[in-house]
Amino acid sequence: MEEKRILVIEDEKPIADILKYGFEKEGFLVSCAYTGAEGFAMAGKEQPDLALLDWMLPDLSGVDVCRMLTEQYKLPIIMLTARGNMEDKLYGLESGADDYITKPFDLREVVARVRTILRRFDKAHGTLESERLVCGPLTVVERERSVYRQEELLNLTPREYDLLVFFLKHPRQVFTRTVLLDRIWGYDFAGDTRTVDIHVQRIRRKAGLEETLVTIFGVGYKYVP
Ligand code: CA
Repeated sequence: MEEKRILVIEDEKPIADILKYGFEKEGFLVSCAYTGAEGFAMAGKEQPDLALLDWMLPDLSGVDVCRMLTEQYKLPIIMLTARGNMEDKLYGLESGADDYITKPFDLREVVARVRTILRRFDKAHGTLESERLVCGPLTVVERERSVYRQEELLNLTPREYDLLVFFLKHPRQVFTRTVLLDRIWGYDFAGDTRTVDIHVQRIRRKAGLEETLVTIFGVGYKYVP
């Protein structure tokens, strides 16, 4: 298994040293930063898998560093706080931290929490990567709102995309035009059911579904993969 990289952002050097020692002993790679700005710069350089972030830093507040890190790097963060105040902890979690640890801490507990969060994060990340819906020659990447046919990106309007993905996700189900209008356009859409026919024709052509997105005369449509 690849070694995980931990970034420790903590201005109290003895505490940073204990963490570095403890995590290296467990097989992690550890970098230490002693200010918020240094930590942010190091996150860009070292590409850590997780950050342990002290709440009270000399230059920036932990909350600010936390926001900067999560916005820029989508990095799981555990906040280290000396405060016993629950509101501070909640505020930390609201700022994007995944967990908090109160100082003084038990090193084994910190390691255990880090492992838990890394596992959870890996899983979530894995799900993100697998958010590809493959339907024959078509691949939907929902994160990008894109549909590819073989390797080629289909040039779909947002509505065509929604309609196409809706059909792909509900194979063999018959949908009336009214239901499609309701589900894709929204119930307050003022247009008529002819709109659905036009869109279906376009996505059939663009996605090459002339054979598989079939008309149920007088009723609606269904996708038969
Ligand atoms: Ca501190």
